[in-house]
Amino acid sequence: MEIRFYNSLTKQRELFESLRLGVVSMYSCGPTVYDLAHIGNFRTFLFGDLLRRFLELVGYRVDHVMNITDVGHMTDGEEDRMTQAASRMKENKKTGRVAEGAVANPDDPYQIAEYYTQAFLSDARKLGYKIAFEYPQRVPKATDHIDGMQEMIGELIKRGHAYVAEDGVVYYSVESFPEYGRLSGNTLENLQSGAGGRVSDENQSRKRHPADFMLWKPDQHHIMKWASPWGVGYPGWHIECSVMARKLLKRDVIDIHTGGEDLIFPHHECEIAQSCGVTGSRRFANFWLHARFLFVNGEKMSKSKGTFYTARDVFEGRVTGNPVHPAVLRYELTKAHYRTNLDFSEKGLMDSGMAVRRLIEKRQSLEQLTNGQSAEVDLTHPLLAQFAAALADDLNIAEALAIVNQFARTDHRDPHEALGVWKKINSVLAIAPITEGLLDESDSGGGQDDAMRQAEEWCRELDAARRDKNYSRADELRKLIQDTGFEVRTGKEGTTIQRALM
Ligand SMILES: [Zn+2]
Repeated sequence: MEIRFYNSLTKQRELFESLRLGVVSMYSCGPTVYDLAHIGNFRTFLFGDLLRRFLELVGYRVDHVMNITDVGHMTDGEEDRMTQAASRMKENKKTGRVAEGAVANPDDPYQIAEYYTQAFLSDARKLGYKIAFEYPQRVPKATDHIDGMQEMIGELIKRGHAYVAEDGVVYYSVESFPEYGRLSGNTLENLQSGAGGRVSDENQSRKRHPADFMLWKPDQHHIMKWASPWGVGYPGWHIECSVMARKLLKRDVIDIHTGGEDLIFPHHECEIAQSCGVTGSRRFANFWLHARFLFVNGEKMSKSKGTFYTARDVFEGRVTGNPVHPAVLRYELTKAHYRTNLDFSEKGLMDSGMAVRRLIEKRQSLEQLTNGQSAEVDLTHPLLAQFAAALADDLNIAEALAIVNQFARTDHRDPHEALGVWKKINSVLAIAPITEGLLDESDSGGGQDDAMRQAEEWCRELDAARRDKNYSRADELRKLIQDTGFEVRTGKEGTTIQRALM
């Protein structure tokens, strides 16, 4: 099968071939854990997950690594994010996103980072993000790799790619790396004149070139600090990814690097400069794939408009007024092509809810027909071949979903085979039941079972009310059950319930 992806590095669609037969090494920039991840973050993560699951469908083993940024690193504006995290924590408690007492000491950056790491993993697992189940082996924390960062910085100095400035800060010298700017389309000249506005900071005068970026900053007073050959301090923003990608993927050149479009410059440009600087390779990743932004109701997410929705805002009903099943959010966040701006809306979420419902019902009916026995199918099956071919075309998800929807409407001659197809499709879409057998039920708590028991009790009351022709009481009970998060169906055998998807 010919696979083509749009490569941000070459700005064109290219034939994808892995460097090693049958194995793809892939690195995704992960979450910064100073706050809850929002749906825009998850759009990017789930695009990476879709990509991985597709590669697995067509037979690759995907060696996937994603980092957790838990260092209170600098941004270009010299603000420290970890210090700000404490105030965000207070805000999150006010809005009910974080429970009171969730972090014993909210001034301890390690506790804050650990809390948000676990919150991220929990949300990500609910959304079927595969790598979240591979924590911590494939999901390293930056703070566990400070030694590796120092080693790489030392190597970069030795190779003439980095220098210690007068004030003791270690910078990467962009002029030492002629390829700098290739990914983002920047030139050293326009960076020199400050185009983009992101290269100016108060250390300007001490740098050899305005675009030189920080690798290590000595700072005795910083909230997170480590001893180093350049004094007690902390690493720059970009070095962790170069270090963890190389350490865990064990390759100088990897197949695929993913991230959001906002990371192209400076983050990914700097990763390339560091990695190639230390290995001497011309490339760090053969393919760079970037997901575009998510909009909410046609606009960029905004703090002031309150549209920085977190995944749990959606799950817990703070966006639509009703809880939304994670499978529906996953579908919604992956249904648009990754190189288009996904527009998140309540209407879109409703449509996704219906699509997911249709697929679950399809599976249920096939399971009834087959007693749950599916036949093994592979990519020679015409429908699966079409599905895979759509995704092989730069992850054309719209076309893949059109094929899936057609499948959902078809009556199948061989339901065993159809169930096999359903399972293969679900191995990529991962919608229902999301993360079956993978999800640790402990974090949804026993409350769910209690709700189910209560709702079933109400069902029996509802049936009794109907027998007594007490329809107003029956309606009351139906409403009560629905409000608890269940769908109610009344048939010949009485009332049955099903957990609502949204
Ligand atoms: Zn990164």
